[in-house]
Amino acid sequence: MGRRDEDEEGGEEEYLFKIVMIGDSAVGKSNLLSRFARDEFDLNAKATIGVEFQTQVVDIDGKEVKAQIWDTAGQERFRAVTSAYYRGAVGALIVYDISRRSTFDSVRRWLHELDTHCDTTVARMLVGNKCDLDNIREVSKEEGKALAEEEGLFFMETSALDSTNVQISFEIVIREIFKNVSRKVL
Ligand code: GDP
Ligand code: MG
Repeated sequence: MGRRDEDEEGGEEEYLFKIVMIGDSAVGKSNLLSRFARDEFDLNAKATIGVEFQTQVVDIDGKEVKAQIWDTAGQERFRAVTSAYYRGAVGALIVYDISRRSTFDSVRRWLHELDTHCDTTVARMLVGNKCDLDNIREVSKEEGKALAEEEGLFFMETSALDSTNVQISFEIVIREIFKNVSRKVL
């Protein structure tokens, strides 16, 4: 069964998906996004104020998909992520730092916040970032996996520093969103 395509010769269909990055301060959200969007890493933790997003074009099985990925840009420091931040999101990366247990303990709070602003169809990925810091790890991979299974999330350990699993994490979320959308269209 294929997807019905009424304008094969005409204009390309356009997909624009809003994805939000959430998680405690300094877990690496901004660096994951800059690694994904520009292949850059920033050693300095600079607190930027306000909401920012990056638009990234991704090819999913020959379809051009625009992922508009939002970064809290420091709002979370003040526990003041606004509802505007979440509005219209169809995907979310919930990030913690494998070398800081407190950030893993916050994951449920972030999931709860996501649930209060978005519906349950949002594609969710739990991301254990900074896996390059294995020598000072405080959260095992198994714990991350178990939480993800319990909450029905995709799971990846990443490193924005050495690029491990960054691309694939975003891609999995984008593919899942695409699948959800296609299901609705059919
Ligand atoms: P945010 O507050 O969640 O946006 O976190 P940032 O992206 O600003 O990163 C916070 C700090 O962690 C910065 O000093 C980064 O250089 C560092 N950092 C981010 N990702 C990684 C990573 O994968 N590995 C390591 N070792 N440090 C990272
Ligand atoms: Mg940031």
